[in-house]
Amino acid sequence: AEPRLVAARATRISERLTLLIFRDITERERVEEMRRDFVANTSHELKTPVGAVLLLAEAIESAADDPDQVRHFAVRLGAEANRLAGLTSRIMSLSRLQAADELNENRRVSVDEVVASAMDAHALQADSARVEVQRGGDRRLYVQGDMQVLSEAVGNLLANAIAYSPAGSSVGIGVRAVGDVVEIAVTDRGIGISEADQQRIFERFYRADQARSRRTGGTGLGLSIVKYAVQRHGGEVRLWSRPGRGSTFTIRLPLVEAPEDQSRPKKPTR
Ligand code: ADP
Repeated sequence: AEPRLVAARATRISERLTLLIFRDITERERVEEMRRDFVANTSHELKTPVGAVLLLAEAIESAADDPDQVRHFAVRLGAEANRLAGLTSRIMSLSRLQAADELNENRRVSVDEVVASAMDAHALQADSARVEVQRGGDRRLYVQGDMQVLSEAVGNLLANAIAYSPAGSSVGIGVRAVGDVVEIAVTDRGIGISEADQQRIFERFYRADQARSRRTGGTGLGLSIVKYAVQRHGGEVRLWSRPGRGSTFTIRLPLVEAPEDQSRPKKPTR
């Protein structure tokens, strides 16, 4: 080949390499910045319940000769400790999902089992909130990934749908295939989310209405976990909501073939 052409080609290749390396550095900087923010937010969020636990322990100590008071503070201490435990486990989930390592598992997963396990995990919550969970749709669809992570994601949507719904209402979970995508839609007829909040609720620790969310014991981490879990599976989350009407969160994941032993059409028809 002509030397000039070779030189031009070499220049192009090296430009492309520089670009790649540059992109890699900015990506690493972005991840590092995210990590720093996360640590800062986390320490801030942990301060409140830890402070409450310390105060309640002191209150118990100074109320020692009043059994009723001791009992009262002990119950509140238990509640705060529970909240702290929930917060810690969510922080762990989120930081695992944000770490660059591979998912624990990467196998074919039945969406039906994902939904069933999420419903199991929140059956008590639904009962005590007097919200009925109704499932529907295609029960023979499969995706690729980590069963545990996916059912936690669907579970978080379900937990929110129940928490932000009035007693006596129902929440729906529907599964269907749209082309080569599986959609898992969680629909409630609850309080809904304003347009401004819709832009922000997937951010870590963000809660639409502080007072209201605190009353339901939220952490503001549920939807970030959903977002990262779904992203790690090559999918996305969509949201439709209207204040006072309700919300639908839809997880969309790449569809994979059903196992051979299942007699079903190769391409889903719905
Ligand atoms: P939280 O633990 O506070 O529920 P999430 O990250 O799961 O945290 O949700 C963030 C915020 O988004 C909630 O505090 C709530 O204000 C709003 N939200 C989430 N799901 C719903 C829903 N189904 N209906 C109304 N608001 C919701």
